[in-house]
Amino acid sequence: MKLLFFIKKRLFFLLAITVSSTGCAAENTIPENIILFIGDGMGVSQISAAKVVKGSLNLEQFKVSGLLTAYSSDSFVTDSAAAGTALATGYKTNNGVISLLPDAARLKTIVEYAIENNKATGIVVSSSITHATPAAFIAHIDSREKHSNIAKQIAQSDVDVLFGGGWGYFVPQQIPGSLRTDDKDLLQEIKKHKTFIQTEQEFLNLAPIDSVVGLFAVEQPQQATTRKPELSRLTDKAIEILSRNSELNNKKGFFLMVEGSQIDWAGHQNDQEYLINEMIDFDDAVGVGLKYARDNQQTLVIVTSDHETGGFAIHNGSVKNNTISNSTFSSTEHTAAMVPVFAYGPGSSLFSGINDNTHIGRIIIQYIRNAEKSTSFDAKN
Ligand code: MG
Ligand code: ZN
Repeated sequence: MKLLFFIKKRLFFLLAITVSSTGCAAENTIPENIILFIGDGMGVSQISAAKVVKGSLNLEQFKVSGLLTAYSSDSFVTDSAAAGTALATGYKTNNGVISLLPDAARLKTIVEYAIENNKATGIVVSSSITHATPAAFIAHIDSREKHSNIAKQIAQSDVDVLFGGGWGYFVPQQIPGSLRTDDKDLLQEIKKHKTFIQTEQEFLNLAPIDSVVGLFAVEQPQQATTRKPELSRLTDKAIEILSRNSELNNKKGFFLMVEGSQIDWAGHQNDQEYLINEMIDFDDAVGVGLKYARDNQQTLVIVTSDHETGGFAIHNGSVKNNTISNSTFSSTEHTAAMVPVFAYGPGSSLFSGINDNTHIGRIIIQYIRNAEKSTSFDAKN
């Protein structure tokens, strides 16, 4: 009898531990702010290489991790348009298509749900703002190549903070540097509602505002070694502006997407040094998001990728000397490998394990739409 009591007591104790370690209240609540980082072309080897060279990564501080399948509707190997659509809407589509189903039906994006549900929104990238990944969060079009049309949709959107490159797509054809073939002046449209900047100096001089469009290159921004402002500083400023916007306008937090766009381009070029520099730049930005989430507990941070690029493999190196001495790329294209996902903060536990890339968009949209409910749901329906 005494023994049974002892066993029961132990069992209860064990149960109590199990419940408190997995049923953490913070992990089950709906986040107010969501920051989604996308490393374009970032596979596990890309992360491994960055860790060897940088020593330690901000990515290592995430408590939840998993893998995502990334095939598209019409291809075993996805492109950034189809994968961006999956992440931004929770639905698969064909390669090249931006937030439309293969039958051309329009898909509502995380950003559109966020605006509808009274959240401030922002997009920060190290490519043209009209490029496939950012476009998937704002625009709807049958081809990622239609930059002029994507620019028009971006100019008409209610996104509060836009940082990237590509101002050439926003000015009429007669302006030097214009990448348009018509007379539309989208910058004039933007300037009616928002502050517009295009230099690092203007960025440094920004007054406390609650919305801004910053396009710092006529088309594609430079590589990480010379790119100004750095992705981490853009991320920091975007978070500052979005949290001010949310507070001033009585909104329910914010959604921010930050893309390390050029990890992919380095993979296509089979350029390891470029790749590692972009990875480190991206990880610095992740660190900024993570710090904000630590200081503001209602913030969920997710880091993922759209696909791996280059079939990158590391064969030899030195952890002690922070060097990679032997690596190869097996391709100049994207590969079909699963991509990693990391999550930190309230609601992070649903991102663990192996899921499809549509899972990311679906969970984020559920969080945005079910802001008041703290119950679990089947995000796969
Ligand atoms: Mg991209
Ligand atoms: Zn690519």
